[in-house]
Formats: sequence, C-alpha cells, structure tokens
Amino acid sequence: MSIVLPRIGDCMSLLRVLQFLLLFWLFYNLVKAVGNLLRRSASPPEPEKTRDGEEMVQDPYCGTYVPRSLAVKKVIEGQTLYFCSEECRDAYRHSH
Ligand SMILES: [Zn+2]
Repeated sequence: MSIVLPRIGDCMSLLRVLQFLLLFWLFYNLVKAVGNLLRRSASPPEPEKTRDGEEMVQDPYCGTYVPRSLAVKKVIEGQTLYFCSEECRDAYRHSH
C-alpha cells in the first residue's frame, strides 16, 4: 500500500497540472477571440480608400462609392462633384 498511494498522488497532481494548462489555454483563446472582435468592430464599415490607397468618392445622385480616377467629374456652381457614370451626372444636373 505504501508504494501504491504515492503513485495515485502523482497521477492526481499531473491531472491538476493538465487541468490548469487546459484552463489557461481556454482563457488565452478567449482573450484572443475578444481582441479580434474588438479590432473588427473598430474598423469603419465603408471603405474610404481602394486597395491601392486611392481615395473613394461618393456619387451624390445614387450614393455609390467609386475610385476618384474612375469617377465622372463635374463642376457645378464651383463645387467639384464625382459621379459613377455619365447617366448619373446628367440625371443629377437635370434634377438640380
Ligand atoms: Zn451613380
């Protein structure tokens, strides 16, 4: 009996260490998941720039975002406006 009992004790302490490691691992993953969630919610919902770092402009007629270089430019009453297409530009001009 004096030989068997210490062995059970060793086994129990090993289980406790494993339990602790498992809890630590779970906690670590939880912290990581919360960190990812916070980082994702902090980013703006609308893309301000394209992948190349080009500025995005909003079509005032239909609300579409287009890269500045692809937008149809029109100066109305001293204000530079950008449209996604010539149709939108003409429609906007007729409605104003
Ligand atoms: Zn448009």
